[in-house]
Amino acid sequence: MKRYQGKEVSPGIAEGRILVLCSRVSASVGEKAGDVCADAECEWKRFLQARQRALSELSSLCSHSESCLGCEAADIFRAHRIILSDEAFADAVETAVRKEGLPAECAVRRAERIFLSMLSGCEEETFHARTADVKDVCARLVCILTGMTDDRLPAFREPVILCADDLSPSEAMQIDKKWVLAIVTRQGSLVSHTAILARMMGIPALTGVDFDGAIDGHTGAVDGDCLLVDPDGPYLENLRLKKKHADTERDMLKELLHLPAVTGDGRRIGLLANVGVLSDIEDALKNGAEGIGLFRSEFLFLGRESCPDEEEQFAVYSAAARMLGEKKLVIRTLDLGADKLASWMPADREENPAMGMRAIRLCLTKPELFRTQLRAILRAAVSGNVALMYPMITSLQEVRRLRAFTAEVKAELRAEGALFAEQLEEGIMIETPAAAVTADFLAPEADFFSIGTNDLTQYTLAADRQNKALSEFYDEKHEAVFRLMRYTVDAAHKAGIKVTVCGELAADTELTERLLALGVDELSVSPAFLLPVKKKVREL
Ligand code: PEP
Ligand code: MG
Repeated sequence: MKRYQGKEVSPGIAEGRILVLCSRVSASVGEKAGDVCADAECEWKRFLQARQRALSELSSLCSHSESCLGCEAADIFRAHRIILSDEAFADAVETAVRKEGLPAECAVRRAERIFLSMLSGCEEETFHARTADVKDVCARLVCILTGMTDDRLPAFREPVILCADDLSPSEAMQIDKKWVLAIVTRQGSLVSHTAILARMMGIPALTGVDFDGAIDGHTGAVDGDCLLVDPDGPYLENLRLKKKHADTERDMLKELLHLPAVTGDGRRIGLLANVGVLSDIEDALKNGAEGIGLFRSEFLFLGRESCPDEEEQFAVYSAAARMLGEKKLVIRTLDLGADKLASWMPADREENPAMGMRAIRLCLTKPELFRTQLRAILRAAVSGNVALMYPMITSLQEVRRLRAFTAEVKAELRAEGALFAEQLEEGIMIETPAAAVTADFLAPEADFFSIGTNDLTQYTLAADRQNKALSEFYDEKHEAVFRLMRYTVDAAHKAGIKVTVCGELAADTELTERLLALGVDELSVSPAFLLPVKKKVREL
């Protein structure tokens, strides 16, 4: 039996076979020259066919990105087509195939190196931009030539404990909890979006585990903050008992299901859920959620090849609204960017993505993308009690621009005679220090506030929420974060609006008392934490 220590980011106990995911497509494929190829003509033809396929993939990406994201996005793929059609690039591949006898994929890598070294003479910014394009084009060709894809998730045949170096939110989105008993990664942190997704799905997860790749196929167990490989009989027996005990405790909590979240002195606290997909709403309702305080709409855009169109979004938002009936559904507008990158969305590599083109910045820069989402939400809002929420606010100007944009979209729907909700609340997330310290300006122009402590902590303490090496510095309980929250709540109440806390901190029952003392009106947590938090509120 071998024990690996990690950090528990989603609680739970699991037992099953270990599956280690390989690393992402292979920057290394095609790197080694390997055997000299027998038939240069055949390799050259393979390259020409692959190039043809890549060109047609890029054409569809161009038209798709143009309709979803506008011309600028499509230009990126146009540039990729130009690189692919470049005579000098093809010549470099041909020389490597015919003169050096390299197989097509190795010849592509050889041409890539030649192009990259030519670019190294450019000024820095151009170099970075073009380098990424050349690498992207070559990776596309190598994938076509080798039949590989970037999709690492296998077709599961049995439930597994999934181990990986890291898992992107797009990959986590594709996970079916029927097949994944637990997630174990080397990278990641408590507030990384993959960890948040695991909590929302109720899948136990550990990060920071330095496992050995050879554990693939072995029996494993996840127990609190450790991964056990080949656990022995007595250990497993104990673990099963522990699981039974945890299940019983959970069943006892069910007795609270229909009781309100009210403190001993009669203060009523709203208890809402954070969700990402429709099935999470079922979990939330089963656990007594009074509504959805945070619907992370961006998860509908991840883990897929193309951007969902208005009708697809409309179908999901209206299904969510109908599932909730009278209960509130707060739909957060797209918070893509940083670690949440959609594969269909061409993104420039950013040095500092958490401080980059994210959330409303992306929406305001890609108005077509935003307009489509708003149209779908406004139309779906007639089916329930829907509110809009804008993420990553830093100024009053942004709030005004966003509200004006939404008003424009309403006018457009009105002119078309479409059925949509004229009246719906528009709230904002307080997750930057700028928003918190200007909360008194923002409050009169927002219908509600929702404090996102995950980002508020990262931006206040200048500690990347994704970086596991910083976990001791990423302190959500830091006095600075609490002072910002206090200021936010006071400003909101002066303006007569409510405050929800929807960051992960809201689920920490050791902090419930402190949050209520600040005057917070509502807590929004992952479905699995609803009943433990309710129990805590009722004990206070
Ligand atoms: C937050 O930042 O606290 C939040 C709820 O938003 P997200 O975790 O999705 O960034
Ligand atoms: Mg956030």
